[in-house]
Amino acid sequence: MSLVIHDPRELRELCRGWARTGATLGLVPTMGNLHAGHVSLMRRASAQCDQVVVSIFVNPKQFGPREDYAAYPRTLEADQAICDKNGAGVVFAPSADDMYPEGFATTVSVAGLTEGLCGASRPGHFDGVATVCARLHGLVLPTRAYYGEKDWQQLQVVRRMNEDLGFGATVVGVPTVREDDGLALSSRNQYLGAEEREAALCLWTGLQAAVELAKAGPGPAERFEEAVADVIAGEPLAELEYVSLVDPTSLVPMARLDETGRLLVAARVGPARLIDNIALVPGGE
Ligand code: AMP
Repeated sequence: MSLVIHDPRELRELCRGWARTGATLGLVPTMGNLHAGHVSLMRRASAQCDQVVVSIFVNPKQFGPREDYAAYPRTLEADQAICDKNGAGVVFAPSADDMYPEGFATTVSVAGLTEGLCGASRPGHFDGVATVCARLHGLVLPTRAYYGEKDWQQLQVVRRMNEDLGFGATVVGVPTVREDDGLALSSRNQYLGAEEREAALCLWTGLQAAVELAKAGPGPAERFEEAVADVIAGEPLAELEYVSLVDPTSLVPMARLDETGRLLVAARVGPARLIDNIALVPGGE
């Protein structure tokens, strides 16, 4: 059975004790409502680390005032059972007051990387992410911290934060786990009705169209971005927010695909805001 901890000080003491014994520690930060994507992170962590901490915390700081903080699915009991089965020795499930006690006054803000893409339409979101992840990295001091490639911009922001603040973790990016038809698993897929669920596939179909074009070789960024935009425009239930070809690490927009880039897309489908991304390799398989 996983040990459930709510108190940050207790978590810190436990992790410091493990570190003194020379154990390697893996951290898997989540907002709970665990699915096979999260399980993939946990399994990777338990294969590579002696002790694994999964945090389950719906972080109020990363939700905007008109976003789904109150509605976000909270399923702690089912989540604990999934952690038990997948090698997480500790489930850290603090309350908002545990994480941000009275007087908490620090914001971690990563410049540059957070300005475009999802940062443009979700002001403050990545400050919330960087702040909670810094707090978690500081409490656990993990040897390795595991984040999903599904949230590509978040992964780059956390890498930068971890490096700049000297936490010393190796940040591991884990490939996106998908439904059989290609839709990226996400807790927010539950917001979709049956027709919307069908429509949501257009993000993946669009990205696949761009991958096919990239196989033919290099070209201007718009060629690949338009391929995605066209597929999404053909789906009446979906509304494109952005599609952008960027450098995979710096997230700076690429004018052309001459070397490997990352194509990121966000779209609204009914009540859900969905994101996805893929590597684009000119001339690649
Ligand atoms: P969340 O609970 O949605 O905040 O996600 C927690 C972690 O799981 C983040 O690092 C996400 O990138 C990762 N994650 C979410 N969905 C997937 C997925 N479909 N495949 C792989 N990782 C994922």
